[in-house]
Amino acid sequence: MTSEMIPETGQFVLSNVRLHASLTPGLSAAFDADGFALADITVADGKISSIIANRRPNTPAGALDLGGRIVMPCFVDGHTHIDKGHIWPRKPNPDGTFMGALNATGADRAARWSAEDVARRMDFSLRCAYAHGTRALRTHLDSVAPQEEISWPVFETVREKWRGRIELQAACLLGIEGVRDKKWFESLAKRVAAANGVLGVVTYMLPDLEELLDRVFAQAIKHGLDLDFHADETDDISAISLKKIAEAALWNGFEGNILVGHCCSLARQPDLDVLDTLDKMAKAGLAVVSLPMCNLYLQDRRGDNTTPRWRGVTLLHEMKARGIPVAVASDNTRDPFYAYGDLDMLEVYRMATRILHFDHPVGDWPQAVTSTPARVMRLDGFGTLAAGGGADFVVFRGRNWTELLSRPESDRIVVRDGRAIERQLPDYAELDDLMVR
Ligand SMILES: [Zn+2]
Repeated sequence: MTSEMIPETGQFVLSNVRLHASLTPGLSAAFDADGFALADITVADGKISSIIANRRPNTPAGALDLGGRIVMPCFVDGHTHIDKGHIWPRKPNPDGTFMGALNATGADRAARWSAEDVARRMDFSLRCAYAHGTRALRTHLDSVAPQEEISWPVFETVREKWRGRIELQAACLLGIEGVRDKKWFESLAKRVAAANGVLGVVTYMLPDLEELLDRVFAQAIKHGLDLDFHADETDDISAISLKKIAEAALWNGFEGNILVGHCCSLARQPDLDVLDTLDKMAKAGLAVVSLPMCNLYLQDRRGDNTTPRWRGVTLLHEMKARGIPVAVASDNTRDPFYAYGDLDMLEVYRMATRILHFDHPVGDWPQAVTSTPARVMRLDGFGTLAAGGGADFVVFRGRNWTELLSRPESDRIVVRDGRAIERQLPDYAELDDLMVR
């Protein structure tokens, strides 16, 4: 089975595909212990016209028999930084620490992030994401003055160019102390609203954190914006800004969506504190995105020839048990915050399975890279497979979880609007002229 076998007419039946219960809400079938059932998918005019349980040996005439390969809806990547992506060759992280990342990126941004530089690296990142099967992506945009005046217009142009291939959203990114400049922050919120964006800040423990959070919520309410936080990306147990965000959401009566990323320190805190924070998060309607690859890379790196002893990720299982929507996402790619990565959400899911134990049972964890981030991003119909929905899915070689998650699946087939796409990854050499040090 190769992509050439998918008819270019966009009219076909894929028979004997393996679908997961958590990603096919409308399918009535006998799902096995791993959550899979065999089914036939009929595609016409860019849409899925039907999904029905497979009735072997009565395979429909003319159907392509996929022999039990897994088919998943296209991925939704809810937390990335495509404005930072791929600067590693010219600005590596000197020691692999969080501070090393912050300082290196800040220096590179001030010196090199022209509109052309940002636009070319963004386009490179999106071609990777598209080839791997991503259909929607939220990026944070460093919005420390004067970068916001460069990156937001670039983002708007890139979003337009990519419309129909990758649905793009952006959230502004700045340390919450930047909110102290009321007038500037108000103008940033207006800029974000004009771009139909999301209001985002990085939170950490400051004496005036509660007041600053109130200002963030006030601007979000005023402009009708959703919120997206980077919170407590640290092993410091005294970092409780996640709890402060939940409290601020409650006392401000916020009704928009709130996504909080990282929340690393929660995993280090005493049980009673954790339970209190989880209660407040659930009550406030927070959703959480964990960034397992970036956390594994940056957290618990002590720089004194020691071995890391914790995984850096937050308490996703405990959150999910409380009904808190939880997702995982790519975060950084080939920049000082993470030296690797290619916006491949199958890689993210594979790594998350290993780091966060998304297995035995798998349950509905596949929603963490599909329908859950889609819901947080308000993208109807994304991240599930259903009759009447878009024919946007990925055909893998693996027929069960151990096959799917053991190989890179570099030969997966990505179908968009009912047609197999060209999945050539861009050559790194394309960016060489931007990487001169
Ligand atoms: Zn991030």
